[in-house]
Amino acid sequence: MTKTASPNTTTASNPEIEYTSRTLFARLWTDYLRHHKFPLAVVAILMIINGGSLAVLAKMLEPMFDNVFVGGDAGAIWWIGGVILGLFVVRGIAELISKTMLASISMRSSTDMQVDLLRHILSLDSQFFHKNPPGSLMERIQGDTVQVQSVWRVVIQGIGRDFFSLFGLFFVAIITDPVWTLVAVIAVPLLILPTAALQRYIRRKTKHLREEAGKRSTRLDEIFHGIHAIKLNQMETYQVSQFRSIIDRIVKAEVKTAAGQATIPTMIDFITGLGFFAVLIVGGQEIISGEKSVGQFMTFFTAMSLTFQPLRRLGAAAGTWQIAAASLERLYRLFDTKPTITSPSAPTALRSDAGTEVKFNDVKLDYGNIPALRGLNCVAEAGKTTAFVGTSGAGKSTVFNVLTRMTDPTSGHVTLGGTDISQLSLDDLRAQFSSVAQDALLFDETLRENVMPGIANVDNAHLQKALEAANVADFVNSLPDGLDSPAGPRGANLSGGQRQRIAIARALLRDAPVLLLDEATSALDTKSEAVVQAAIEALSEGRTTLVIAHRLSTIRNADKIIVLDQGRVAEEGSHDDLLAKDGIYAGLWALQSKSPAT
Ligand code: ADP
Repeated sequence: MTKTASPNTTTASNPEIEYTSRTLFARLWTDYLRHHKFPLAVVAILMIINGGSLAVLAKMLEPMFDNVFVGGDAGAIWWIGGVILGLFVVRGIAELISKTMLASISMRSSTDMQVDLLRHILSLDSQFFHKNPPGSLMERIQGDTVQVQSVWRVVIQGIGRDFFSLFGLFFVAIITDPVWTLVAVIAVPLLILPTAALQRYIRRKTKHLREEAGKRSTRLDEIFHGIHAIKLNQMETYQVSQFRSIIDRIVKAEVKTAAGQATIPTMIDFITGLGFFAVLIVGGQEIISGEKSVGQFMTFFTAMSLTFQPLRRLGAAAGTWQIAAASLERLYRLFDTKPTITSPSAPTALRSDAGTEVKFNDVKLDYGNIPALRGLNCVAEAGKTTAFVGTSGAGKSTVFNVLTRMTDPTSGHVTLGGTDISQLSLDDLRAQFSSVAQDALLFDETLRENVMPGIANVDNAHLQKALEAANVADFVNSLPDGLDSPAGPRGANLSGGQRQRIAIARALLRDAPVLLLDEATSALDTKSEAVVQAAIEALSEGRTTLVIAHRLSTIRNADKIIVLDQGRVAEEGSHDDLLAKDGIYAGLWALQSKSPAT
């Protein structure tokens, strides 16, 4: 059965929000750029200097031609040459400083964005993670933020410098001859519509490209996680071909984006060519007739020629911005996706004397239209062990998910120590649980970091006690670096049983009053199981323990066994009571006694 349907509450992005270039840039500015406004102001001043230098350069051609070349004033060549040399030096320095400052601002803002995004994603509901595979989320945090960062740097730098250059150059052109300037730009309005259409095209293609990049990461993530199964099932060629087809789609989209981007400057070339042609026809006549000097024409012509590069770059920047906008839109859609499982606005504090009895009161939960719980009524008594058994799909994991508010029920309510869990803050609620699951979550850090993630100030005696009780001390002491040995990627340096024991030590240190064991020993061989089981018994001592069990032998001594069937309690009682009842449990027990390995 597929597990992709949403429960009654879904995590959804707000469809009302518009992601236009303007709103995206405004949000980028407010969230990440505004607090760099002083360095950005310095960058802007440097850009004005940089851009203005071109205009002064063009203006210098007028005295050069009219005074030196035509007028024969040899002395003027020194100061004119000196000014031109100075202009290049100033321009170079301004460029160096502004580029370095922009690189630093863009790096800082994009890393801020990555951290914010991870924090936000971690606050989203488990349903969100059902719909968004890890690879695609990794691509958003790494790919999209970097895309935004590199692109906006180019865009701001380009737009800033080139805009001021253009401004200065047009100013010189207008003071030289406003009519010539008008003639030169007469064809520019022809650019407006095609440029707008091209921008939309680039945005569309880039969006597609980023989605495919997400699929590429997802595929790689799945391949490397499933490497054993892939090798054993000889799926290498198939996986490579699947990967190839994703890459091919990326290349196609990439080429289309690049073509779209290159078309804008090309159109600018055409329009500029037309402008030059028109000015030559009009201006040439005026110089021949003596109305204008050669120096004036050279200044004008140089100013217009110098506008050519910034204009092309600005045209290209419009396309480049669309690439950033496509990534920004993906990022902001994610930021606008709000968790639906949240703390109440005025949470009730958990009373310390209330105990930790867990009670399900007529709890119903539907995933789409698939009912997972259909009116569950049961109690797990404080300080006792309650086991949930039942066939696959009976609703055992859903019981844990509802209790920890990974998902909220469609109706009914759950109480912990007599308080409705929806009245507690999520932090308070989740602090009540420690969990040990079949697949212990270990990180590529040292064993010490894995045992006490984020827990500082654990005194050594306390730590040693936990390690002993969890039977971790046995194997850790024989490792050359002891607790400081690396666990390997996802704990690969350890056996399944050792990983479980690390997870149990972690749970012991966490010291939460309610223990959730989710088929903790079902993947272990009999010998490891005995060691882990002993560690679990130490852990569950004095705690309210809820167990999901696959092997009934492990829960034989539980205080209460609840048999679930199609999201309801079918039977409950002790092992002996249930055997005497000769119902579902007795049937399951008989089945497993015949084949104890399952
Ligand atoms: P168990 O742990 O007993 O095997 P579960 O609690 O995982 O059963 O599932 C109970 C029912 O809910 C099953 O029919 C399962 O397919 C469905 N279910 C569980 N999680 C989801 C989900 N995220 N989306 C859709 N259906 C789900």
